[in-house]
Amino acid sequence: MESYWKTLLTTPEAATNYRDSVRDRDHDLGAFLEFDPQRGCTAAGDILAERNTETAGDTNTTDDARSAAWAGVPFAVKDNIAVTGFRLTCGSRMLEKFSSPYTATAVQRLCTLGAIPVGKTNLDEFGMGSSTDTSALGVTSNPWDRSRVAGGSSGGSAVAVAAGMVPFALGSDTGGSIRQPAAFCGVYGLKPTYGAVSRYGLVAYASSLESIAVAAADVDTTEAVFRAMRAVDEMDQSTIECPADLADASGAADTTLRIGVLGGELGLDPAVATGYQGAADALKALGFPVSAVELPTIEYAVPAYYTIAAAEASANLARYTGIRYGLRPDYAENPEELVRTARDQGFGPEVKLRILLGTYVLRSGFQDQYYLRAQKVRTAIRNDFDRLFGEIDVLLMPVFPTPAFPHGDAGLTPFQQKIADRFTTTANLAGIPALALPAGVEAGLPVGVQVLAPAFHEHRLFAVARALAQRLPRATPPDYPPLWRKASE
Ligand code: GLN
Repeated sequence: MESYWKTLLTTPEAATNYRDSVRDRDHDLGAFLEFDPQRGCTAAGDILAERNTETAGDTNTTDDARSAAWAGVPFAVKDNIAVTGFRLTCGSRMLEKFSSPYTATAVQRLCTLGAIPVGKTNLDEFGMGSSTDTSALGVTSNPWDRSRVAGGSSGGSAVAVAAGMVPFALGSDTGGSIRQPAAFCGVYGLKPTYGAVSRYGLVAYASSLESIAVAAADVDTTEAVFRAMRAVDEMDQSTIECPADLADASGAADTTLRIGVLGGELGLDPAVATGYQGAADALKALGFPVSAVELPTIEYAVPAYYTIAAAEASANLARYTGIRYGLRPDYAENPEELVRTARDQGFGPEVKLRILLGTYVLRSGFQDQYYLRAQKVRTAIRNDFDRLFGEIDVLLMPVFPTPAFPHGDAGLTPFQQKIADRFTTTANLAGIPALALPAGVEAGLPVGVQVLAPAFHEHRLFAVARALAQRLPRATPPDYPPLWRKASE
């Protein structure tokens, strides 16, 4: 990875300039819930010092060379991922005052290389939503048009990258939460293979579907961050070793990969349809073998996803009682009332809806009808992908049927937003990697498309994205040129 802004955060003047510029921009955008590079430097320094004590005596020059490229690179972290010294609110009143006592493994790995977590970004409450408007703690706006949403749930992370504040940011993706805001803001967004990156330190929403994810300004950075984070972690028993023959597979542009383009009636907004067609045409023009394919199970993805996600959410969020975790009401007559009041005041309407839906589908006597049925659909979707990846190497499909929609009533209803998750939730249900990439700007708003590959074949996604970037370079929002520079520029 090339070095970003070598002097950033290493000289006091550069650090002050950077801090002031980001604060200035973020005033209108609301990407960050907390922004404090100084605190990030302290957290990263502590992690580095701990590693140096553990590895004292080792001299590894490759490691040193790699670290030099990362030294002082600022990155942002979605506020459902733990970083010591910062709060960990999940965009919820429930955790508004909660500070993280430890740092997520994925963040630790980046800090060990020298990168600095500079702040925590806004999100839909507990990651539930597609706009970042369900956050209880702030409004995030799209840098292309501030009357529109950033997308979600990793909206703050996508905006921090799109508005040039950081070269990359971490988010999470349970059903599209990195890819959809990446598409709305015009940046790259990678959801890795399930189990490739440790979830230790990611606050659980739907554990079997989610992954820590990357939003970044270019393909090189996306790939470098993914490679730095990918590892088996004893703190997360669901992490899996990447098969040896794939671990170092090249992500260099490769136009021999067979591309399947999802066809059929996709129900896309005209601007998105234009961008999607443009990406398919660009792949053909680059010389890729391209064919139209179908994924018949896609029509069941949304009901299966929302059944499973809500069921897992209702179990995961049971820990917020106001006793050990969560908002502690000022007064309660008895423990039951304390828990009830904590939940009533601490959770927003979308979170309450999903907990209710989750307990409904899991209630005794009805599991066959909902939860187990959804698991069967999940298997069918996985089989559909297996079949497809016998014929093609990479699948191209839309991310979301519309571009960034307006805030509030002029936008999509919560129900419309859920239906629109049909393209993104498939990768989470199947556990496979997916990368959203910029496919142009239509009527002043970015359009994204996504590429999917079999588990642990992220390199194919980078190879296609690199080739496509020659034809469809990423555009930056006119008012927000990057605050950072590549060392080579
Ligand atoms: N829109 C989806 C949901 O609301 C995606 C969320 C996510 O990936 N965290 O569940």
